[in-house]
Amino acid sequence: MLKIQNLTAHYGAAQALFGVNLEIAKGETVALVGANGAGKSTLLKCLMGLIKPTGGQISLDNKDTTNSSPAQMVRLGLALSPEGREVFGELSVLENLQLGAIPLKLSKGESARRMDEVFSRFPKLQERRQQLAGTLSGGEQQMLAMGRALMAQPTLLLLDEPSLGLAPLITDEIFSIIHQLSRSGTTILLVEQNAARALSASDKAYLLANGHIVEQGKSAKLLNDPVLRSAFLGAASEANPAASRLGAAGLTNIRLEKPAMQQQNFMPTFTSEEELKSHQLAGLKWTVRHAYEGSSVYRQKLEAADVTPESIQSLEDLQKLPFTTADDLREGYPFPLRSVPFEQIVRVHASSGTTGKRKVLSYTQKDLDDWTDFFARCYQMAGVTPLDRVQIAVGYGVWTAGMGFQLGCEKVGALAVPVGPGNIDMQIQFLLDFQSTVFCSTASMALLMAEEIHKRGVADQIAIKKIIYGSERSSRSMRQKISELFGGAELFDITGLTELYGPGTGIECSEHDCIHYWGDYYILEILDPETLQPVPDGEWGEMVVTTLCKEGAPLIRYRTRDITRMIPGRCPCGSILPRHSRIKGRSDDTIKFRGVNIYPSSIDTILSAVPGIGSEYQIHLTRDNAGRDHMRLVIERAEGVDSKRGPELSHEIGHQIKKQLLVSVELELVDYSSLPRSERKSQRVFDNRIQDEIV
Ligand code: ZN
Repeated sequence: MLKIQNLTAHYGAAQALFGVNLEIAKGETVALVGANGAGKSTLLKCLMGLIKPTGGQISLDNKDTTNSSPAQMVRLGLALSPEGREVFGELSVLENLQLGAIPLKLSKGESARRMDEVFSRFPKLQERRQQLAGTLSGGEQQMLAMGRALMAQPTLLLLDEPSLGLAPLITDEIFSIIHQLSRSGTTILLVEQNAARALSASDKAYLLANGHIVEQGKSAKLLNDPVLRSAFLGAASEANPAASRLGAAGLTNIRLEKPAMQQQNFMPTFTSEEELKSHQLAGLKWTVRHAYEGSSVYRQKLEAADVTPESIQSLEDLQKLPFTTADDLREGYPFPLRSVPFEQIVRVHASSGTTGKRKVLSYTQKDLDDWTDFFARCYQMAGVTPLDRVQIAVGYGVWTAGMGFQLGCEKVGALAVPVGPGNIDMQIQFLLDFQSTVFCSTASMALLMAEEIHKRGVADQIAIKKIIYGSERSSRSMRQKISELFGGAELFDITGLTELYGPGTGIECSEHDCIHYWGDYYILEILDPETLQPVPDGEWGEMVVTTLCKEGAPLIRYRTRDITRMIPGRCPCGSILPRHSRIKGRSDDTIKFRGVNIYPSSIDTILSAVPGIGSEYQIHLTRDNAGRDHMRLVIERAEGVDSKRGPELSHEIGHQIKKQLLVSVELELVDYSSLPRSERKSQRVFDNRIQDEIV
């Protein structure tokens, strides 16, 4: 729709813009972000015809408008909500709004109709329509300036610094209106100093510095780019933990140099794939001998498979080994797979067994040391340093989660705040008082906290930069929402299971595209869950793990039931560690529906792509008397989305599900925030077709 090519502008002899290129497509919200004096206002003035560019071209709908006058630009459909609002204080709200339509010479009826539309978007303005604009609050004046621009029903709405000088709560309100405008199809160019806000409210962004576009791309990607974050959003330090907030609020590029510190390195020592493979082979040989000699259960299993420690000569010999499953752990209760004498065991942990006996795992001191070291590696990969304050909101006790997060955090030298799950009031208080910079929890708990932070309007008083979350799947929209409500925090998905030490056996890197896993501590195979044969690299299958140095309860080809896939090749982040995709689901909670295998995550993906939908949903499966299966999806509308849009949204979702999953479902749209949130894993699938628990 709008195309700016190689635009230059001068103020006298001083050049303000240096060959700027920028494009906006119809319906897009594009952010132009930059500090004071970067050239943002100059660019807007060129667009509106208020100053004449000294070079380059501006075209609107393929029509050259480079030297058009302001009046021509308004007639062509541009409307500006200027910096500093510029409302007429001596005129009433109503009169100010009427001014917005004057250049268009509308009929009385049309003018009144547009006025009603503006009022329906800004009910506060309607309440105050007879009041003088000068007596309105800053936020109301901003609404008035936006309302005035909307009176022209612009094809392109230019918003110049809408959050400037507004309190955080009011800024929230303004941005939620911008969000609604954007969703209703208005094309918007949003000019902002508040980088975090602008990036979370837009599809695409351009960063302007000293008259040059220095960076451009999808806003979500820019928001999570670690280099940009540190350059533009500033870095927190011990002396000033709020610096990242200050930076985010003003893009003032506050950078505090970190003091020199002896930071340990927890990354692996191997430098090539060959080196890793020979390390793995040595570990595999050790593990098979250790299990064979230390555990009667393993000896029986190995003998039944006709394998002795001597049979392991290459990594391919892994295929000869028998599988271990959750059943082996339950049957061996209370000390299954124990391969060392009791005097060497220093701790046990147990996982939540939903049925039957819990899975209990024994640890030697070396096991705990290894776990601590590779958990520290997780923090290192997420960029956590001794300057960070890590608020740990996962379960402590017999569960492995809390312990792992705690030990790794202390090993890195960061400050641990061990709160445990729940306790929302205390969590918020500590976020504010301790200025915690990292928050660890399940995805559901992170969402719960994010919504609470939003509700209390404290997003700009907390200092969270990173959220490390694990133990359940999360949709793209859920991640985006958590990040946004936490004021633009970076999310890291961490993997792990109690059987394999605990959490921390892999983590998402700064590229946010994959999970790096610790190939120097365990071998990962991806197998077809039906045939148990390896799938080709890049294809989905079940994760099967074999430990390389675990003493207390080693794992040989343990079937995790987690579904993922290998990602071949080296990660752009530079790490040599191998990687897999985020966990897609469980090989045992795949929904079989009318002959179609459905992973709940594919429903996540479909819903994430439909605007107007929140991140929470439930899948209910029932069977009628005729033996026919029914799937009903209960889905939350996004915050602020009118219930009137229900039929339109249902239609779109139903269509996408039919198209992508080839099944028909019943849909129920419910109000935002009406489905339960939990501090632990949210239950999404309610399968009422089979009454008995499947063991
Ligand atoms: Zn990476």
